[in-house]
Amino acid sequence: MLRVAPPARARKLAKVPFVELADGRLQGVVSSGSDVERVYVSSVTAGSHAVNCSTNNNRPCGGLRGSLLCKHLHALADEAVLQYGVEQVARYLRIDAGDGVDSGADLLARTDARHEPGPAAVVFSRFLRHLAYLEVPPSAAPVPELHWFPATAAVR
Ligand SMILES: [Zn+2]
Repeated sequence: MLRVAPPARARKLAKVPFVELADGRLQGVVSSGSDVERVYVSSVTAGSHAVNCSTNNNRPCGGLRGSLLCKHLHALADEAVLQYGVEQVARYLRIDAGDGVDSGADLLARTDARHEPGPAAVVFSRFLRHLAYLEVPPSAAPVPELHWFPATAAVR
């Protein structure tokens, strides 16, 4: 049996409806600040710290060009810290966090981030599957498939 961990702190689901540590990445879905119809799929790869941000239609995020790290990546990192705690996120991404690191921005500041296209479609389909499970009628019985989705289970 998987132990289902509640979020370390309460999260704002409207801003970042989906965040997970999976497939060797911190990845998730971030709402657009300006357009309710649009979402961004953002990810940070463990180890290499390659970052990616694009819309769910695979259009590159404009915010990635200048400072490299757009506001969606910052929102994702902040929400991951709320969801998992800063130590777990740092360990998963293999960021040498050290003392004084307690926010997503602190973590990102310690990466040598560079852009690399990521599997936005895969992440987005995981998000849609995650949404589908919210429609499953409440039940005390275990849902076998959810054993493969520890991050999904953690936010329920
Ligand atoms: Zn972005």
